[in-house]
Amino acid sequence: MSAASPGSAPAGQRIAVVGAGIVGVATGLFLQEDGHSVTLVDPSAPGSGTSSGNAGIISVSSIMPIVTADIFAKLPAMLADPVAPLKLRWRDLAGLAPWLLRAALATRGSAVERAMAGIQGLTSRALAAHEVLIQRAGAGELFASNGWLKVALDQSRLEKGTATERAALDRFGVAYEMLGRDAVLDLEPALSSEVKGALWLTANREIRHPQAYVERLAALFMERGGMHRRSVARRLAFADGRVKGLLTTEGTIEADSVVIAAGAFAGRLAADAGHHLPLQSERGYHLMLPTLASPLHRPVYCMDPGFVLAPMAHGVRLTSGVELASLEAPPDFSIPRRLLPLARRYLPGLEERVLSEWQGFRPSLPDSLPVIGRAVRHANVYLAFGHQHIGLTLGPVTGRIIADLVAGRDPGLDLAPYRPDRRYW
Ligand SMILES: Cc1cc2nc3c(=O)[nH]c(=O)nc-3n(C[C@H](O)[C@H](O)[C@H](O)COP(=O)(O)OP(=O)(O)OC[C@H]3O[C@@H](n4cnc5c(N)ncnc54)[C@H](O)[C@@H]3O)c2cc1C
Repeated sequence: MSAASPGSAPAGQRIAVVGAGIVGVATGLFLQEDGHSVTLVDPSAPGSGTSSGNAGIISVSSIMPIVTADIFAKLPAMLADPVAPLKLRWRDLAGLAPWLLRAALATRGSAVERAMAGIQGLTSRALAAHEVLIQRAGAGELFASNGWLKVALDQSRLEKGTATERAALDRFGVAYEMLGRDAVLDLEPALSSEVKGALWLTANREIRHPQAYVERLAALFMERGGMHRRSVARRLAFADGRVKGLLTTEGTIEADSVVIAAGAFAGRLAADAGHHLPLQSERGYHLMLPTLASPLHRPVYCMDPGFVLAPMAHGVRLTSGVELASLEAPPDFSIPRRLLPLARRYLPGLEERVLSEWQGFRPSLPDSLPVIGRAVRHANVYLAFGHQHIGLTLGPVTGRIIADLVAGRDPGLDLAPYRPDRRYW
């Protein structure tokens, strides 16, 4: 362990963590282990935001950037296709354009290399960080280890559509197997015999109820003396040029340090800390469908057009691709509903009876990397957001890193790729 770094403070701080999603709750737990008194600030129940409705995959294989040159090449066709995995609200285009431009620039070689190395630096720590929390919270029954399948109805689509990903997995030593039709059906007899093969991402794990998982972690946090203030953090509170806490809808919360873990909504507070960041919400939807008579054993990504069918403790969850829109735009549930007939092609036993529908906000920077670190001008403000499509996977990793930074410990990896003042292209 290294000596305490400038800006770090001893144990026993009062720390306010804005946001009680997977990132905020995991951060709170790791901070408590260092003896800090932690308050989660969130108007909503822990784990009820985007962390509740995801596909539940602890996806250590998701090391590719979220935006690739291939996506930009296909963009016109995708935007015209009602079931494509990328949608855009045209009326929000002016607001989206700067992010899209940066995302396009980030598809160049050196930016892609930086993104992959940065993502993999975090994903490689994800299982260990989750295991600690799962064990401490006694949440083992929510956890499964069957990997996930990317399934295609066409063999050449499978080969071509996964080639870049497989090359990246080979390079970083992430395990996978290519399966033919019979092997896929042995693993998942509920899938259609139309399936021609799959990429089996064996290194991944699954959480069968993401909201219950975060709730379980939050219950542990409260048992250990953590507090939850149900309020919206409006601004950072300053005194004598130093951050002294938060101004919230329910009054001021005094704190020795503040962690901003508000997911897609973190921009306003980050700006208060001096960082005007190109944070965009990549919206996503899910539909909950009835449990299958012949169950799925692992999440299945259906390659055409691109959606996930994930077995959950309370049914099958169909999760959609990305819709780019402003944070305020109302949800458009026709997006996931259009996928239902296609889902039945992969899973003929699936009932199209929708039990519930949901929309969430993936918090994304254009270079695909999260922001994890101290604010440059305010050493007692920590930024922890932007975990894009893999925030469930990375929340505990980020929580550990933030606790290390607060304690002045060496987190054991180079944090330069996640700095708030990096180049976003
Ligand atoms: C359809 C879909 C599928 C996904 N599938 C996966 C998957 O399989 N695996 C995976 O790893 N990831 C997945 N993700 C991504 C993952 O869900 C997110 O990256 C993750 O939940 C982000 O967590 P968070 O804690 O940063 O944000 P959130 O869960 O959104 O939590 C942020 C919290 O901050 C609070 N907040 C916001 N502003 C304020 C404020 N001013 N004051 C106080 N509180 C505030 C909000 O109320 C919220 O509770 C998926 C996402 C979607 C949409």
